[in-house]
Amino acid sequence: MVNGCADLFHLDIMDGVFVPNISYGFPVVEAIASKAALPLDAHLMIVSPEKYVERFARAGASMISFHAEATEDPERVLELIRSFGVKAGLAFNPDYPLEKVYPYLKSCDFVLVMSVFAGFGGQKFIPDTWERLASLKEEIIRQDAGCLVEVDGGVSPDNAARLAAAGADILVAGSAVFRAPDPAAVVAQMKNA
Ligand code: ZN
Repeated sequence: MVNGCADLFHLDIMDGVFVPNISYGFPVVEAIASKAALPLDAHLMIVSPEKYVERFARAGASMISFHAEATEDPERVLELIRSFGVKAGLAFNPDYPLEKVYPYLKSCDFVLVMSVFAGFGGQKFIPDTWERLASLKEEIIRQDAGCLVEVDGGVSPDNAARLAAAGADILVAGSAVFRAPDPAAVVAQMKNA
């Protein structure tokens, strides 16, 4: 029997400023946290993430990522997240220079590689991601940084196995799961890919 249960819930937080879309905020995250049996992974697509880290941590997030593009000082935000006992992740868009991420790898529990531009669901996986993943993985190994790689955007059963082989540790799937007639079957398919 294949396991159709996800390992965590990934929450896309959009503020209408960093991205041109608004999703939801603390009351919804708190409500989900009160019912969820799985860890919550909050992906902050917001400006000034440092102002809101504490509230997301207190709302029940086990993992918090923010965008490198949204802050001048990623190191400080990573430290702040970790100070609440939460796993810290650095997210970045498909056009963000990878070399700018490298200095922070040792301070990250995970990096969130966007395989579409942040802001909207239902986008197609950008093929350049394959090359970026390979370079990133190589650098993580070179630095012995030990951070996990999460991939978000256009993830589906069609690319899950190749993503895992390319070094992705965590796959975030939205539309592929929620638009499917049998979401659990899609999760199972990806986990067994
Ligand atoms: Zn996300």
